[in-house]
Formats: sequence, C-alpha cells, structure tokens
Amino acid sequence: MNLILFGPPGAGKGTQAQFIMDRYNVVQLSTGDMLRAAVAAGTELGRKAKSVMDAGELVADDLIIGIIGDRIGEADCANGFILDGFPRTLAQAEGLDVLLAEKGLTLDAVVEIRVPDEALFARIEKRAAETGGTRADDNAETLKNRLAVYHEQTAPVLGYYEKKGLVDTVDGLQGIEDVTADITRVLDGKR
Ligand code: AMP
Repeated sequence: MNLILFGPPGAGKGTQAQFIMDRYNVVQLSTGDMLRAAVAAGTELGRKAKSVMDAGELVADDLIIGIIGDRIGEADCANGFILDGFPRTLAQAEGLDVLLAEKGLTLDAVVEIRVPDEALFARIEKRAAETGGTRADDNAETLKNRLAVYHEQTAPVLGYYEKKGLVDTVDGLQGIEDVTADITRVLDGKR
C-alpha cells in the first residue's frame, strides 16, 4: 500500500506514520527527516537546504523529487510506503505521478489530517519546549511562515488528489489514538 499523509506542520503526520508502519508493514518516507539527515551529515544537499529550512521556506522541487525518486526504488519500499511531508507543491505532485508511472506503482490513499492554525501554534510551541530546540524551525516565528507557505503552496495539492477521488479527511484535533482509529478505518477499507 502506497499512501500520502497530508496535513500542515504539527498536524501529527510523523506520529501517525509510526503507527501505520507497524500495522501495514510499510516504510515512512519523510522528506523533512531526509533533509535534516543531509544537513547533519553536511552533504551538498544539506548545505543547499539548511538556510531554506531554517526560514520555513520550501526546498527546490527538483531536489526533492530527486531524493524521493531514489528512495522509492529501494528494496525496503517494495511492500509500500507512507509519504510524510511530500508532495508539498503541485509540481511535486506531478513529479510524483511521473515517478510512480515509471516504476509501475500506484497511489492507494491520501489521508488528510485536518487541524486549524490556532491549534498548530500551541502544538509547535510544546514540541519546541519538549525537544529543547533540536529543530531550528520549531519556533513561533518560523511556524508562521511555514503555515503561510502551507496555505499558499501545499494546500492546493489536496485539490489535485481530490480530483482523483483519493482523499479521506480525519479530524486531527482528536486525541492521538482517536486519529489513529480513524486512519485505520480509512486504510482498512482500501486493502
Ligand atoms: P517537515 O519535517 O516535513 O516539517 O519539513 C521541514 C522542512 O524541510 C520544511 O519546512 C521545508 O523547508 C523542508 N521540506 C520538507 N519536505 C519538503 C518538501 N516536500 N518540499 C520542499 N521542502 C521540504
């Protein structure tokens, strides 16, 4: 099963991805995690991405499509994958379609975790406090920009998949376990 977990920063995509991995035996592909690893390792990609990430802007589409294209061809993706934080622009969604077609793969589901902006500010501030600022982009100032970028560039991606009839929405304001239960209902229905 190949799916997209869609939602704004702080919606709980990473938390829910952990659960989906275990239940459906698929891997989580988080472009944010991949970029943070590249920054930590000091690779060329990391050097290009760092200042963009710290500002809460988006890394260039061609770089992102390139790393996902490499990753979904690896052996551990054979049973399926969860895309977390990708695609974030219409160009990335179109790029993903090309990648999937090349590899003879299909997308089974797009699960939107819906959370209003006000709740996201509170969550990100909590995460920043808990992780002791290990993520340079987890602060109120950058979040404001990340949310603006989300609404401008990423939210339209949902319409792209709605047209394909692929989107199911769950209420991300619920407790973690209730969100998980809703996602399970959606994904069990696709198996
Ligand atoms: P995330 O962990 O998904 O919130 O991503 C952290 C940061 O990495 C984002 O604010 C962007 O700067 C960058 N990033 C992650 N995924 C993407 C993507 N699909 N396209 C462009 N930039 C991305």
